[in-house]
Amino acid sequence: SGSASASTIKQVKLERESELRIEVGSETPLKLRLLNGSAEIFGSELAPEIWLTFPSRLKFAVFTWYGATIEMDGTTETDYMADETPMVSYVNVHAVLEGRRNRAKTSSPNDSEASQGPRVIVVGPTDSGKSTLSRMLLSWAAKQGWKPTFVDLDIGQGSITVPGSIAATPIEMPIDPVEGIPLEMPLVYYYGHTTPSNNVDLYKALVNELAQMLETQFAHNAESRAAGMVINTMGWIESTGYELLLHAIDIFKANVVLVLGQEKLFSMLKAVAKSKPNVDVVKLQKSGGVVSRNAKFRQKARAYRIREYFYGLANDLSPHSNIANFSDLLVYRIGGGPQAPRSALPIGADPVANPLRVTPVNIDQDLLHTVLAVSYAKEADQILSSNVAGFIYITDIDIQRKKITYLAPSAGDLPSKYLIMGTLTWLET
Ligand code: ATP
Repeated sequence: SGSASASTIKQVKLERESELRIEVGSETPLKLRLLNGSAEIFGSELAPEIWLTFPSRLKFAVFTWYGATIEMDGTTETDYMADETPMVSYVNVHAVLEGRRNRAKTSSPNDSEASQGPRVIVVGPTDSGKSTLSRMLLSWAAKQGWKPTFVDLDIGQGSITVPGSIAATPIEMPIDPVEGIPLEMPLVYYYGHTTPSNNVDLYKALVNELAQMLETQFAHNAESRAAGMVINTMGWIESTGYELLLHAIDIFKANVVLVLGQEKLFSMLKAVAKSKPNVDVVKLQKSGGVVSRNAKFRQKARAYRIREYFYGLANDLSPHSNIANFSDLLVYRIGGGPQAPRSALPIGADPVANPLRVTPVNIDQDLLHTVLAVSYAKEADQILSSNVAGFIYITDIDIQRKKITYLAPSAGDLPSKYLIMGTLTWLET
């Protein structure tokens, strides 16, 4: 195993319950197809003989329950077979969730408790495979015809939309192994930073908003209530990170907590759940295939993710460059605004800024290369509680002419002039 790069067509025969782990090379994409047997990528089945093209650097595994032959064309960083995987334990979890969904579906919709399907939250340290497990559980459920809701609380990477956001979206089909989560109408809240420590209160407030909004939607939709949710979380599990996990478990009323690859976290959550009889805490093994990513890699991945938002995975989208007057746009930031100088405060008062205060931002060069969210707010005081329509990227600030040039996913007016600024920037490459 651990073969070095190979750049010709090659066939790989996989035995039952084994997987082919692949890291696509950094220069060119990799083509791959299923020649015979059956196989899936993170819960999504491969159609026979159809070539799929995986972008450079992607890391994934082709798993087979009963055996398969795979054909690859292109360069890999690594590709190797593994027959020790935690897949059986993962699919057993899926089976238990299926049972709960079926029970919820056959319950009276008036019984809000019994008609609620599983609310699963996946927790664990960084690089324990949380996103991947979430994805498998969603795809397996979608394959059986359910429409579970995916909630992504991980602001660091962002599998639904750009980093710095928390978001939710219904999953109606197994997740495409190349394209990932479909971008149709997700419910998105913009936090604006890639680590929660920038403004923990804001992060919590947005998680509350998202949870409340989903609660309202679920109340009117028995189908999504029965299908339940799968919630992906951040890898920050110490101190404040741990408190944020407890907060998410509570606020989303999670009833299944899946703990990946950490005994200590498992026992801590297990102890907490003692006082919550309807919360099951389950320990699961981390897959040996999960690839660790360092800070630099994550930084790069964030940049690709922003690029993908505007240009598409295969450069298949055409974002639009627009010009606006300074006066057409109202840019706000939340918290972290300029603090009152100590001299302006009563003696003894601490100059703590209100972390949830919404303050207008002067348009100047500081906005260059920032990613701003377009809020659905109709007034400034609604910004904190509003979800966002999408994002723009500031490409030029002309102070003299008071003009701002920005990239948007499409042409035409923005759905609102209320924009949210954080610390998220991007250098288009
Ligand atoms: P984070 O720290 O960002 O929260 P995570 O715990 O969600 O990370 P994943 O994103 O699921 O971890 O996995 C990390 C990387 O490993 C991803 O690129 C994923 O595609 C890859 N990966 C996961 N499982 C496998 C596997 N069995 N074989 C090959 N690659 C895998």
